[in-house]
Amino acid sequence: MKKVVIIGGGLGGLTAGALLSEEFQVTLLEQHNIVGGCATNFKRKDFTVEVGLHEMNGVYIDKTIVEVFEKLEVYKNVEFVKVPQFFEIKTENRTFRMPDGVENVKRELLKEFPKEKRGILKYLKTIERIYKFLQNRNLLQVFEVLKYKKSSVSEVFDSLFQDEDLKRVLNANVQYYNDSPKTLSFLLHAVAQYSYFQGGGYFIKGGSGKLSNYLADVIRKNGGEVITKATVKKISKNRVYFRDSYKEADFIVSNISPEDTYRLMNIDFIEKREIGSSLLTTYIGFSKNLKEIYGERAYSKFLSDFVFVDYSQIESGLTTSEKSFGVICKIDNLENWGSEYKMEKKELEKRLISELEKEYPEIGKYIEYIETGTAKTVQRYIKTPNGTAYGFKPTPSQFFKIPKSKSKKVKNLFFVGQWVIAGGFAPAISSGYLCYKELKSSHN
Ligand SMILES: Cc1cc2nc3c(=O)[nH]c(=O)nc-3n(C[C@H](O)[C@H](O)[C@H](O)COP(=O)(O)OP(=O)(O)OC[C@H]3O[C@@H](n4cnc5c(N)ncnc54)[C@H](O)[C@@H]3O)c2cc1C
Repeated sequence: MKKVVIIGGGLGGLTAGALLSEEFQVTLLEQHNIVGGCATNFKRKDFTVEVGLHEMNGVYIDKTIVEVFEKLEVYKNVEFVKVPQFFEIKTENRTFRMPDGVENVKRELLKEFPKEKRGILKYLKTIERIYKFLQNRNLLQVFEVLKYKKSSVSEVFDSLFQDEDLKRVLNANVQYYNDSPKTLSFLLHAVAQYSYFQGGGYFIKGGSGKLSNYLADVIRKNGGEVITKATVKKISKNRVYFRDSYKEADFIVSNISPEDTYRLMNIDFIEKREIGSSLLTTYIGFSKNLKEIYGERAYSKFLSDFVFVDYSQIESGLTTSEKSFGVICKIDNLENWGSEYKMEKKELEKRLISELEKEYPEIGKYIEYIETGTAKTVQRYIKTPNGTAYGFKPTPSQFFKIPKSKSKKVKNLFFVGQWVIAGGFAPAISSGYLCYKELKSSHN
């Protein structure tokens, strides 16, 4: 049996590993003491802290995700919980609740922004065509894609809409991928947004680590190995070195950035592509169940410059029914932090909680546990450049590429994860499938 060694146990590495382990001898090496990368949990007091997942798209509609999840029996072993609505956003002028279901989205948008009818209808048609092309590679839609290949979200929005609020509403959740709609690829926006509109968002009951651990179990069940606390330090002559040992590999799959991978191989490589932003998350354990105190509220609510995710609105499985868990999340970058890191973090935490109290009066008094992870924290835990969780910055020029897993520089090397298609759960899992297909066909 040919040997595959995987560097990194994020969703990309785990998915590739689980799929490949049926036909290859797989060893996955993960530097942390748990697998999952951004898709992990940790325990604090009575709370299972969700590191990353707010909502995953594509769970039952994306062709690749469905194929992978069926093949690996994920649906039978991991419980996906539909979130009650896509998101809610509060701007200076209004509070708008974005439903899911394309017809519901259309109805609510037209009701709230009747003067923008023409633009809204054109927008929905356009993102549908782009999504369908990228799902099915249907040539009928290719012109739509080519037409927008160089467009940013702002450019397209400015050509379709007058109302600044509508522009904010439509890109609210996609701002995770990039710090500005001026540089965000409209194609990426279209694919992500249509997928959420059509299929809705899902959380994983008990936390996203359930999915990661399940994929690791599939590798083990198929006779593969998953080794944690195993930082890959060097790759030379098909040997992958970790601790004071090494593994022989016929194929290497890297779940880390190309630049870091080539450095491990001692290959000269300068990354020309820009790296995406990172995220800051304030994790909060509440002594009470927020839904019981504040009633039915949005699961995911965008306020000023952050989103608040209130997991009490779903059966999250993250804590007991008397308590609840929530996160505040916003774009972050390493440069935001100076020498007084701990104090700066505390000050920001205070500001975020006082903003949240405007929406949830006295929420501060229910805080039992609070902790903030910044771009620096993400970098420390998953070791990405800039502490990004979204790979290369999805600008129009960087996103418009047919994704490839196989390295152009090294024959038996493949990439997976946020570096291949884009960041996000669905793209990372899809990259694992792409790797599986390409690796198998290069082997045959
Ligand atoms: C706060 C936050 C919120 C998010 N919210 C969402 C959301 O709601 N919906 C969504 O779809 N996506 C979300 N994401 C993004 C999503 O989680 C990521 O894009 C995706 O999980 C990345 O997967 P990956 O395969 O690239 O692996 P990564 O998560 O990047 O993992 C890479 C792994 O490689 C390991 N590693 C690194 N160097 C080495 C080495 N030398 N040797 C061995 N192992 C190594 C790391 O420890 C890590 O486990 C969020 C991310 C964050 C951080």
